[in-house]
Amino acid sequence: MGRVKDREKAKPYRHSIQAFFLIFTVVIFITAMANKEFIVVVLGLILLITLIFGTGFCGWICPLGSLFQLVRKLGTKIESIFFIKPLTKRIKRWTKNNRVFVDRLDRYGRYFKYIFFLWILQAALVSLASVTQGYGFIVMNILYVTVLVTGLFVDRAWCRYFCPVGVVIGLVGRFSPTRVTRDELTCIDCNLCNRKCQMKVDVAHAKRVEHLDCNSCLTCVDVCPVGALDLRINLPAHKGAIKEQVNAHESI
Ligand code: SF4
Ligand code: SF4
Repeated sequence: MGRVKDREKAKPYRHSIQAFFLIFTVVIFITAMANKEFIVVVLGLILLITLIFGTGFCGWICPLGSLFQLVRKLGTKIESIFFIKPLTKRIKRWTKNNRVFVDRLDRYGRYFKYIFFLWILQAALVSLASVTQGYGFIVMNILYVTVLVTGLFVDRAWCRYFCPVGVVIGLVGRFSPTRVTRDELTCIDCNLCNRKCQMKVDVAHAKRVEHLDCNSCLTCVDVCPVGALDLRINLPAHKGAIKEQVNAHESI
């Protein structure tokens, strides 16, 4: 375990950057700098960052992601209150015993953010009233409560199940050459990367992490005890060179 701690390199930097952008966002909104032009420039920058560095915006910069990490920390404090602890234990045991069901629920639950994204998009382009009046308004308020409650007790719940910005970033990130990559020869199949990934991405069985929900937080890279994981930029020329090396190796 000592070794795992020694390798926790990205975490302090990530937390500092997250804290900076969380405060920065609050200041921007308080000082009313968040006008239309500013938002368009910020969105353009986010997409550019995503094209180059992959989904790092979600893991390192997004103030909502950081906020929900704090909400989850509050949730763990609630879970450990003496009269709630027995219930927490029972829920954890139930989750462990029903892993297949829980995994399936998680997998299908992640689709909800695409529906939410389309709903928000139509509200922005066609009818804002669909989220501010009538049934839409009621659904929206139910969603606020659901987001908060799940955010307290599920890791990165906002990012996994609800975030419409994450949908765009995940899709744009597909075109980025930057990915967490696993060296299969070095990997000892300890599964620690999977256990520590807050987005519950299957890193331990991937060569390159292609999952749309990976937010490039690098927690898996930090915790891997043998250094089998790395964040790599795979440019087409680089890929070609690797293929040539493999072909040359095979033809020997
Ligand atoms: S796969 Fe790794 S980099 Fe991606 S979200 Fe999980 S821990 Fe973070
Ligand atoms: S990549 Fe590292 S942390 Fe993940 S299973 Fe392999 S050895 Fe373990």
